[in-house]
Amino acid sequence: MPRHMRWRRIAGFLTAFAIVFSIQMIWTSNNVQQPLPTRDPKLKKLLLVYQSNRSKKRQRVVYQLPGNDSQPLHHRIQPVMSTSRSNISVLEKPQGATSITDIFIAVKSSGKFHTTRLPLLLDTWIPLAKKSTFLITDVDDPELMSRFEPGHYQMSTCPQSHYRKGLVCKVSLAYDLFMLKQRRWFCIVDDDTYINIPNLVATLQKFDSTLDWYIGRPSLKYPIRVTINNLKESFWFHTGGAGYCISRALALKMSPHALGGKLRELADTIRVPDDVAVGYIINKKLGVDITRMLTFHSHLEGLWRISPHDLRNQVTLSYGEFETGPNHVISNVINLGKTIPTFPPPYDPTRLRSLHCYLFPGVTECEGMKVAIH
Ligand code: UDP
Ligand code: MN
Repeated sequence: MPRHMRWRRIAGFLTAFAIVFSIQMIWTSNNVQQPLPTRDPKLKKLLLVYQSNRSKKRQRVVYQLPGNDSQPLHHRIQPVMSTSRSNISVLEKPQGATSITDIFIAVKSSGKFHTTRLPLLLDTWIPLAKKSTFLITDVDDPELMSRFEPGHYQMSTCPQSHYRKGLVCKVSLAYDLFMLKQRRWFCIVDDDTYINIPNLVATLQKFDSTLDWYIGRPSLKYPIRVTINNLKESFWFHTGGAGYCISRALALKMSPHALGGKLRELADTIRVPDDVAVGYIINKKLGVDITRMLTFHSHLEGLWRISPHDLRNQVTLSYGEFETGPNHVISNVINLGKTIPTFPPPYDPTRLRSLHCYLFPGVTECEGMKVAIH
């Protein structure tokens, strides 16, 4: 064989080897399993079953549902779950009006906020929704844990950061946890959010949880535009800072894209924050419209603009700061006006304790506080 032919053959062989090697690398990296973001044995079992099913299918046929496409999705999901012996709840037809125990409220938090943000929530709205509230956090804190119902304090192994990865990991875990429960509504809020519980219940009562609902407040006045796999996609999403709620029917439809940590994987792949990833699945992938609820508020808007007399009609409220210039910030809190009794600002800088006692003067948490009213 002439010399140049031999070299060409060797080069060809090396190229083929490199191609096979890269395909193998891509294949294995697709199948890398994320560490489980929880120590909860029940949830761990579900995620493990899910992950092992997925890797058996080599991740290409991700989460294939039984039955045929003409069947409603929720009818098809149930057998999948029972074959994997997990105890994901089935879709139940609501009987009677929605009550607080039909709602699953996930609060995402982080160790550094356990003493700064959570006391406000624990002294105000959480006692009105103790059986519904689940804390998703990242640090063991036995004292804090004792203030939640057993199993409602979810210590995750999510990164303790405000980065996309840490937050989406918590939302993903909250969603998986919801799927294990018999609840009609999945709501998720930040730990700087005040919820008017009776108003939340009354709002959700107006919607049928066996239909698709994605309720909240979009932070943008137009659909967000994101480049995903080199394609420009546009879709609506509700801002996480105002909290949002998803009906069980819709949560079940999301499962091929979200269950078992898939929400986290998706957000990591397309590089978007948790709330945007949820909007992408619901609005873009499933084609379900958002439902705007202007009684949900985040600190992205000027909270002082809500009229004091209208405060009692809101569902979620928050607090924060606005940077108005270099070294100049103004606090963004609700305005209680002149007629509502308030606590002194140093005791109640967010004004939400005062609001709570105005709304629920009879609750135990406000009895001690009344002393402070001036
Ligand atoms: N958060 C977190 N780790 C952090 C910072 C924030 O888990 O390092 C959580 C925080 O507990 C809250 C949410 O992320 O529930 C949003 O954070 P924050 O309210 O500080 O910021 P925002 O996005 O509302 O401006
Ligand atoms: Mn916030």
